[in-house]
Amino acid sequence: MLNELRRIVGTAYVLTDKEDLLCYAYDATPGFSHMPDAVVSPANTNEVSQVLALANTEKIPVYPRGSGTNLSAGTVPTKGGIVLQMTRFDKILEIDEANLVATAEPGVIVAALNKAVEQFGLIYPPDPGTVATATLGGTVAENAGGLRGLKYGVSKHYVMGLEVVLADGSILQTSGKNVKDVAGYDLTKLFTGSEGTLGVITKIIVKLVPAPEAKKSMMAIFSNLDNAGNSIAAIIAGKIIPATLEILDNATIRTVEDYAKVGLPTEAEAVLLIEVDGIPEVVEKEAAKVVEVLKANHADQIQVAKDAAERDKIWAARRAALPALAKLRPTTFTEDATVPRSKVPEMIRAVNQAAAKHKVTIGTFGHAGDGNLHPTIVCDLRDKEEMERVYKAMDEIFTTAIRLGGTLSGEHGIGLGKLKYMEDQFGEVGMKTMRAIKKALDPNCILNPGKLVGEC
Ligand SMILES: Cc1cc2nc3c(=O)[nH]c(=O)nc-3n(C[C@H](O)[C@H](O)[C@H](O)COP(=O)(O)OP(=O)(O)OC[C@H]3O[C@@H](n4cnc5c(N)ncnc54)[C@H](O)[C@@H]3O)c2cc1C
Repeated sequence: MLNELRRIVGTAYVLTDKEDLLCYAYDATPGFSHMPDAVVSPANTNEVSQVLALANTEKIPVYPRGSGTNLSAGTVPTKGGIVLQMTRFDKILEIDEANLVATAEPGVIVAALNKAVEQFGLIYPPDPGTVATATLGGTVAENAGGLRGLKYGVSKHYVMGLEVVLADGSILQTSGKNVKDVAGYDLTKLFTGSEGTLGVITKIIVKLVPAPEAKKSMMAIFSNLDNAGNSIAAIIAGKIIPATLEILDNATIRTVEDYAKVGLPTEAEAVLLIEVDGIPEVVEKEAAKVVEVLKANHADQIQVAKDAAERDKIWAARRAALPALAKLRPTTFTEDATVPRSKVPEMIRAVNQAAAKHKVTIGTFGHAGDGNLHPTIVCDLRDKEEMERVYKAMDEIFTTAIRLGGTLSGEHGIGLGKLKYMEDQFGEVGMKTMRAIKKALDPNCILNPGKLVGEC
């Protein structure tokens, strides 16, 4: 089998030494690790096709992997087998200005794609915190989002067509550059967010949008969480869709201030960070309206950035949120429970109650405008007794999100970490339908087995 793999991709691209395999036994998700039997790095679609055909015949598990930055154990080879490392697929194949699309290979880093389209005055909006490291393939397979999600959406809103190698090695093309294309089942959307469980993505056509001409950032400080929550609802009800509308809760504010000394009042219950973008006249008008709404909803302090340096200062607090929390303890779980935006204060309170009840440290920050919160639990994975309390707090967070009409994941996906809650969100029929799709496309269950829909 190893000789056959070496024949397909070349000896240098099949790793089997223990110290090499160890590097692919885990990803950015704490608490999960398992050794693969081999790490295989194909260079083109034909090689992927041959590797999958072989693995399918021999019933060997295959785990597609980009940069391994996912937070749902999506690339951990839990049943051994092959980690299929896709970073040699690193070419931007075309930037098509007339159709406002780019075609790229899945190993292209998201920031590199944005750098390449910048000269045409365009952007590719999905912007996870990991833009400088995550691959386009990983973000499409994970349906990643980011700070601009409120106005610009997540990856699925930009993927127009895919080339995918199916489990048996056959090669599928889905959709393409057509703005309007309603023919057949929407296979592009099916594979977007499929977390490597349905096929291996080898080419991606994405929609680009014109870069905004102007941006304006603001920060508002609240001594009352409900006033912050009401502001979020009122901004949207006022028909303003900011590019970004972020919240930091009190635990995060205190930790950020201690870590970065950015001048936040540590007694504040919430900080909102807001950015509007677009053409300059509209940006000015929208920024003025946002300030009006913040005042009407009793913001204690409002700062509007006058220049790039002040904008940078405002965003320093948000940038510091995760590193500040992560510095407190050895292990950091960044979750992404998401609720309708009107339920953000209720969700933050429920997270705080779970933290107090189970005596764990949780700071919550995130994309309040789209209800996508990041309750961040800091702990020590080596402390069994503490971890029992951490997992109980997590159970409460996810069941509360579902009870409030929310979802298990706004952008990080399901993988293994949230698998046990899937039936609560989708019910028996939902899970049966998803498993039927998995079984139809991957009858031997070789692709990322056990993830997203569980065992086949
Ligand atoms: C500090 C930090 C901040 C983050 N911030 C954000 C954020 O703001 N928003 C957000 O959405 N996420 C965020 N993430 C999560 C992560 O960066 C994203 O999920 C990202 O999309 C993963 O890209 P990757 O290249 O690392 O993919 P990987 O982790 O390698 O893989 C992710 C999934 O995609 C599958 N996959 C990879 N390549 C392919 C392929 N070619 N074909 C089929 N399946 C494939 C894998 O099997 C796996 O299931 C963050 C993570 C960290 C550590």
